Amino acid sequence: MNRFIGRTALVTGAASGIGREVAISFAREGATVVGADTDSDGLCGLCEQIGNRVWARVLDVSSESDWISAIRETETRHGRLDVLVNCAGAEAADGLQDPEHLLLEGWRRGQSVNVEGVALGCKHAIGLMSRNRSGAIINIASVAACVSTPTLAAYGASKAAVIHLTRSVAAHCARAGYGIRCNSVVPGVVVTPMMERYWSRLEREQHLSAAEARQRFLSRIPLGAFQEATDIAAAVLFLASADARQ
Ligand code: NAD
Repeated sequence: MNRFIGRTALVTGAASGIGREVAISFAREGATVVGADTDSDGLCGLCEQIGNRVWARVLDVSSESDWISAIRETETRHGRLDVLVNCAGAEAADGLQDPEHLLLEGWRRGQSVNVEGVALGCKHAIGLMSRNRSGAIINIASVAACVSTPTLAAYGASKAAVIHLTRSVAAHCARAGYGIRCNSVVPGVVVTPMMERYWSRLEREQHLSAAEARQRFLSRIPLGAFQEATDIAAAVLFLASADARQ
């Protein structure tokens, strides 16, 4: 399928995991991709994989000045922005943190990437998209927003904020008549470098074996299987496509 020929999609977190798969999927369907991340080595790997369909841009989503220049350069190079996928995300702390022992520094780091990064992305993409009276913004939340996260309190709270922010962006754009849609995708458990890091922590801090750490998650999934990054990419591309217009 070639649903995105002539379209430009900016994907944050494109150097790894879900964001990388989303970037590859857009390129496969004809889009010009702006792959953004703080990890320049990972972005090089993405470029090697999808070649001239991607423009790699180092971007720290928590920096407003980075967003301003990235959006300006996107306009200069490609003339338009049709899709923004806010996929960059970070664990809130270096270790497991319950609400009783959370450290403010870790809390703030998680909020600055997961919440402020998404808010800034939406803010600056709306400005460019609204000129064409069309666009789609997809924010990657998490099942951690919907269930209790006693050892990941800050991460869960940040992802709940993403879901609420998404609703505010969607309502604002609708009222303003911009023709911009905004949706969240809420992944379950996907085996990516982020998840591997989390399991390693469980092994270290709760003295579990690698198999036990994985099994703890798997046993809570009714379908008995982890999701694949391709599953999340398929949902993102649907929401970005004309099929999801209303
Ligand atoms: P990942 O660690 O493989 O990829 C995250 C990417 O975000 C990395 O390339 C990293 O460099 C980038 N990043 C981090 N901070 C950044 C910043 N300040 N600016 C720009 N880029 C930054 O993780 P993933 O599992 O692919 O996660 C992707 C998204 O999906 C995240 O928002 C995560 O919270 C969410 N999510 C993941 C899972 C899962 O099970 N893996 C489940 C639910 C939600």
